[in-house]
This record gives sequence, C-alpha cells and structure tokens, in this order.
Amino acid sequence: MSVARPNLVVMRREMVTVGCRMYDKGLIVAAEGNLSVRLGGHSFLVTPAGRCKGSLRVQDLLEIDTLGRSPQGTATSEWPLHSQIYALRPDVRAVCHAHPPWATAFASAGRDLDGSLLTETAAQLPRVPLAARSLPGTEALADSIVPFIPTCDAVLLGNHGVVTVGADLLSAFSLLETVERLAQVTLLAEAAAGNSGLDRETLGKLQNPSG
Ligand SMILES: [Zn+2]
Repeated sequence: MSVARPNLVVMRREMVTVGCRMYDKGLIVAAEGNLSVRLGGHSFLVTPAGRCKGSLRVQDLLEIDTLGRSPQGTATSEWPLHSQIYALRPDVRAVCHAHPPWATAFASAGRDLDGSLLTETAAQLPRVPLAARSLPGTEALADSIVPFIPTCDAVLLGNHGVVTVGADLLSAFSLLETVERLAQVTLLAEAAAGNSGLDRETLGKLQNPSG
C-alpha cells in the first residue's frame, strides 16, 4: 500500500512563507536558521545550506533522505537535528530552528524558560527546557535534545537558539514566536520587578524644588 504524500507544492510555498516571516521578524539574520517538513516514507523537505531564509524560492528547497542526501543540492548542516526529532516524534510533521535574540539570550545565560509566567503559555508551554551546549551541525547537537523532545515541543539549544516542532510548519512557527515572546516578557518582567524607583527624599526635591 502506498503512503499518501502531502501536497509538495503547498509544502514548498509554506516553507518559503515561513522562512520570510522568520527573517522579517528578526528571529534569524543572514543565513541563520533552518526548516523542515516530513514527507511520505523516509524523506524530508528542508532548506538549503548557507542561504538567507528571507529570499528563498520554492525551487531552492531540497528533498533529503534520512542520511541528509539530496541530488538537488546541499541541505542545511542541521539536518541531523531534524532527522533526530522525526525519529523520536512520529506525531511531528514539521520543525523550525532559529536564533531569536530574546530566547537565545536565555540559552546563552544557561537558563530555561518558565511558561507559568503568562496565562497564554501556562498550559501550552509550561516549561521550555535548555539542552546542553553543542557545536552546530553535529550529531552532538542532535543528541542534546534527546532528553527533552519526547515530551516538549520547544527546546532551547545551549548558547545557540531554539528548536520547535508541530503537526505542520505554521504550528511549529507559531510556537517559535510564542517562545520568543515568553523570553522577552520574562526579561522585561524581571527588569520591572527590579525597578525600586526614586527614594522619597529625591522625589520630594524634584517635585518641590523650592520646598
Ligand atoms: Zn542554529
């Protein structure tokens, strides 16, 4: 029995769209980040190596096998990370990896994210764990998420960035945006809590300089 493949034309258009959104929103710069979608059988649609995701064309995207091979070109060096996720999560059909600055600040400071801070994330994303630091594009990076990805749809990569998964690419991208917003609000909330304001004497002098 043949396995039904998702509509490849739609998948390619969606990947170009999500690449542009990641770039336009500043979740990646230059040639950072990568995307993938699970196709039928053991193949995946991925972004090519070394290309800006803000200017990809549908024909630039590559179909690879589980060893990262494609006759059409060189796939993203992070294909082992994507392949590892698909092996561990049969329910996942798409993966987003980016370097969003607020979330990456946490990943670089050795901190995970607590989703209980916000009503929007308390149930959906109670925690975004932090995976151990590993070199980009290595099997070690792919292995770093193994303790977390079976039960978490979003993981911080130590000193690196974020990876999110979903039932489709738009869902994985939406989660990426949510992680970034959670990181941003967490830092702003901490900054706000640390604002002790002006002392009474100084305030009195400013408000009533002649008094
Ligand atoms: Zn990266």
